[in-house]
Amino acid sequence: MSEKEPPNNPFEELQKHLQDLLKGANINLSSPTADMGVSSDSVKKPTSATTKKENEADPLDGVRSFHLKPKEIRDYLDRFVIRQDEAKKVLSVAICDHYNHVRRCLDGKDDQESAGEYSKQNILLLGPTGVGKTYLMKNIAKLIGVPFVKADATKFSETGYVGGDVDDLVRDLVKAADGNVELAEYGIIYVDEIDKIASEGVQSRDVSGRGVQINLLKLMEETEVNLFSPTDMMAQMQAMMDMQRGKSPSRRSINTRNILFIVSGAFDKLAENIRSRMIANRIGFGAENVDKDADSSRYLRHAETTDFIKYGFEPEFIGRVPVRVACQALDSDDLAAILNTSEGSILRQYRDDFEGYGIKLDITKAAIHEIATQASREKTGARGLMTILERLFREFKFELPSTAIKELKVSVDTIQDPSAALKDLIEANAHLQREVYAADVARFADSFARRTGFTLEFNNHAIDYLAALARDSGRSVQSICEERFKDYPHGLAIVQRNNGQSTFKISKAAVDNPDRELSRWVVKSFREKEAGETDDTPASQNN
Ligand code: ADP
Repeated sequence: MSEKEPPNNPFEELQKHLQDLLKGANINLSSPTADMGVSSDSVKKPTSATTKKENEADPLDGVRSFHLKPKEIRDYLDRFVIRQDEAKKVLSVAICDHYNHVRRCLDGKDDQESAGEYSKQNILLLGPTGVGKTYLMKNIAKLIGVPFVKADATKFSETGYVGGDVDDLVRDLVKAADGNVELAEYGIIYVDEIDKIASEGVQSRDVSGRGVQINLLKLMEETEVNLFSPTDMMAQMQAMMDMQRGKSPSRRSINTRNILFIVSGAFDKLAENIRSRMIANRIGFGAENVDKDADSSRYLRHAETTDFIKYGFEPEFIGRVPVRVACQALDSDDLAAILNTSEGSILRQYRDDFEGYGIKLDITKAAIHEIATQASREKTGARGLMTILERLFREFKFELPSTAIKELKVSVDTIQDPSAALKDLIEANAHLQREVYAADVARFADSFARRTGFTLEFNNHAIDYLAALARDSGRSVQSICEERFKDYPHGLAIVQRNNGQSTFKISKAAVDNPDRELSRWVVKSFREKEAGETDDTPASQNN
């Protein structure tokens, strides 16, 4: 069976029936309020009262009120993304043009004719992995308030039977917009690894790469995508059930005219081709400037349409991506700047994570530099930072929340041997550990009281004993208590029925042998009950 042939799916026939059924239901349900068909009107009028409840914030507000200027977008991106100045500029302009156009269409200021003539500012981002290509676009989408989805071009196949169907991207955009189809129509779709579907980008000449380009091209131009994937049985059934129940008259398709497409890739091989061309032509570069190890973006920024076509892109496809910009590789200083200044820096996340346990993270300048140096050796751009930080903090994040330590100082030594640094830190704070165990015991007693209504009062010997058990076994006080006192809710309820008692003192003996202590209390409570029944004296509160 070739890749293009549909698989011999046992559900296929059932699915066909379902689709026929759906078509039938569509005709039958054409009530005046039900807008089941693919109506281009509904696409043009996003304010349609059928989909917008009164008093609900308008999800399209961000798009409708778009009045940003390129410099403002650039300034916003500067808060998160280090370097990539050229990309920030080019993207800011393209985004402003696109969303100004969209706003004018929504306002009804661009008539059908000029809207038809408008050529969309789809963008090609070139450059190595982990340098902020996706991050730039994610931040832009967040700023404007439009949904964003990302996928790798390599996961799609021409037919959609093997691998995904490019139309899934549009459906995913609807999911990212919380099901709001109108908002999704102004969203951003990001397709990475686009270089892998050009014929030079793949090992063997792959016909489906071309097919995927053609399919993507259709989306980039303008098409109606069915909201329910033909291969998604669940979605089809859900749609049918919704229709039968007369549920809200939802749209059946989404128009891609105003969806912005970003395609990106590393294009290593293309950089090499351009480099060779430049050596041959010596245009603008002396031989000494054509450096084999230089950042590929240096060459990629000279890429021309013909380079992309030679590389294996369909001319129509590359023609639909008029905005092209290369992102540069990040060196260790850039990575250090990300840690120090980017508002979305991964280090901030670690700070917040530790802060969640009341632990202050303090990191020296030299340590930042060391992390950045190690990360740049990974050759995965800023992703290297995640790798190094994860490795560095892994044990600390596991151990510190269970200690009294409230400050973690990270120096170059910590990075070079995190395990030894952690051990030293724990030892230096061992004298404070009893308090932590006592607090853990109190937390257990609290949750026990909330669950059962019984108060457990642990005395100091019991706490010391639990602390020793926790220390020796490496387990948490919580789990030791849960295990030892698991029969207490039931047993204490018997005691309470007999003598009304609800507060119980937990001694070392009770921790050591909880069942024996519980049995003793139960027996005693029965005696008290009997005594109470004969001499009518009130039950004692003591055990
Ligand atoms: P790619 O270029 O492969 O699309 P990403 O944008 O997905 O890389 O980068 C991965 C992560 O690394 C981002 O989420 C961000 O946290 C961080 N990052 C990458 N580049 C930068 C940069 N230039 N400035 C700040 N953070 C960055």
